[in-house]
Amino acid sequence: MRWSRYFLYTLRDNPSDAEVVSHQLLARAGMIDKVAAGIYTYLPLGWRSIDKLSRIIREEMNAAGSVEVVMPCIQPAELWQESGRFQKYGRELLRIKDRHDRDFCFGPTHEEVITDFVRRRVTSYRQLPANLYQIQTKFRDEIRPRFGLMRGREFLMKDAYSFHSSAGSLDEAYRAMENAYRRVFDRCELSYTAVEADTGNIGGSESHEFMVLADTGEDAVAACECGYGANVEKATAGAIAPPPPWPGKVPAKPEAVHTPGASSVPDVAAFLKLDPAHFIKTMIVETDREFAIALVRGDDEINEVKLKNVLDATHIQLAAESKVEQVTGGAMGFSGPVGLKGIRIVADPEVMRMTVAAAGANRADYHLVGVVPGREFAPDLVADVRKARAGDPCPRCGAPLVLKRGIEVGHIFKLGTKYSEPMACNFLDEKGETHPMMMGCYGLGVGRTVAAAVEQNHDAAGIIWPRPLAPFEVELIALNPDVPAVRDAAEKLYGDLQGAGCEVFYDDRDERPGVKFNDADLVGFPVRVVVGKKGVEQGQAELSLRRDKVKVPTALPDAVAKTRELLSGV
Ligand code: ATP
Ligand code: MG
Repeated sequence: MRWSRYFLYTLRDNPSDAEVVSHQLLARAGMIDKVAAGIYTYLPLGWRSIDKLSRIIREEMNAAGSVEVVMPCIQPAELWQESGRFQKYGRELLRIKDRHDRDFCFGPTHEEVITDFVRRRVTSYRQLPANLYQIQTKFRDEIRPRFGLMRGREFLMKDAYSFHSSAGSLDEAYRAMENAYRRVFDRCELSYTAVEADTGNIGGSESHEFMVLADTGEDAVAACECGYGANVEKATAGAIAPPPPWPGKVPAKPEAVHTPGASSVPDVAAFLKLDPAHFIKTMIVETDREFAIALVRGDDEINEVKLKNVLDATHIQLAAESKVEQVTGGAMGFSGPVGLKGIRIVADPEVMRMTVAAAGANRADYHLVGVVPGREFAPDLVADVRKARAGDPCPRCGAPLVLKRGIEVGHIFKLGTKYSEPMACNFLDEKGETHPMMMGCYGLGVGRTVAAAVEQNHDAAGIIWPRPLAPFEVELIALNPDVPAVRDAAEKLYGDLQGAGCEVFYDDRDERPGVKFNDADLVGFPVRVVVGKKGVEQGQAELSLRRDKVKVPTALPDAVAKTRELLSGV
């Protein structure tokens, strides 16, 4: 491809809303163009990367036994009403009406559509398992679209769904998908890790996320050298160290202490000369079902995802101040578990391991000192609701956990009968009995994966494409193309490289060398071949890798072979 005939316009400046490197570089390298918040055009160069990744995904999905389909973007509300998600999904679901005033939505995911057409065709265990995938456009009205392709509103996803007559068969497909994902990310040369993930409201038995490790990742991962890894939303830990010894005498029974103005744990701890770990932190939450109280140790944080699951809730939020006062009879910021009635209390096991503690007194500016968990209050539920912290003992081996940032590029899930049951997607077994099918679903963010590759492969000058995702493999630069000898040598090389099967992008523009070099660094194709006046006089081209920029002068007749050799090494 000749630049002069292509559609590539690089930008000198970062878009003002581009906070992360991948967004900045994909925009500046002329790969994407913003149309509206979270909505992008994939420009020709960007589409080539997306297309390359899509091919890799297709090959691996096909090899894992999944069959390609394409489902529509626009989906009828009836199907979502059947699964119960039309109401539940929240505002990420873009609901629309047609000219007849009928309800539709723009699909954020396709469980409903696929379950509907499978149930109308598959009736017997003999037709199972079935496994289908698509690469298709989703729309989610994300509250905070940002980071370019990383969190768009309209974005490309590969989503696969499998249907089974037994848990064993689902497990087999799940493992095959897990391996296929590993192969996809390996082939993209990404550094990633597969971690245990929250199954949330879906309540499935197993779920893994594939995380590309990067400082800009929106997710936090707790990991251990032993191989344990989990999204922090889900991560557990072994028992943590107990609080330091109680300073001074332990009160025989709780004493109310005046703590004027001090409501945060660090403030009260400083005021009472206690350690934050001596406190019980109390949080009053409102779910779609009830008000509830969660307790963690004062130096811990509450994990809202865990709490939401423990409370079997769909939504969870902090209770409003007026509700806190109503529930506890005291002021916000001074809540504690002692004396509360008519509300469920969930206590983290670490709270129950405390021998004595301080807590809010449910009275403005007062705390209770000398509270003994189990004596002064009895939780309705003891469950892990704390956030795992760096240094916590690994739940498997006890070594200290490390926290890392990650970009979630894929998510695989055992759904069980969550959709097949309400939607009556049933099969007849050998005995002629009816059962709902077991399902799995498997998502992979196509644009997000390309963005993640840029996060992991760049320098100050631009992108350094891993070869499998590079829009082109070779950039051929003619310096001073107005010089006939240079133009002739470059044109010949262009033809020869193409003839040898190289994907070559030929910068034949009438631009200064500096501009061409800067652009070549920015778009970041793996191998660069430069033909200039001096070189041509000596019968040479100059080859280099984008990754290390080490110049390799090469005789013109050897340039094609050398280019191929360099390419095979990247
Ligand atoms: P997140 O927690 O990042 O919002 P999710 O749990 O909603 O992701 P899934 O519903 O599991 O994501 O979707 C499957 C995959 O689709 C994700 O692993 C991710 O790679 C991609 N994806 C999800 N939301 C977006 C988005 N807004 N923009 C780009 N890719 C996305
Ligand atoms: Mg999401």
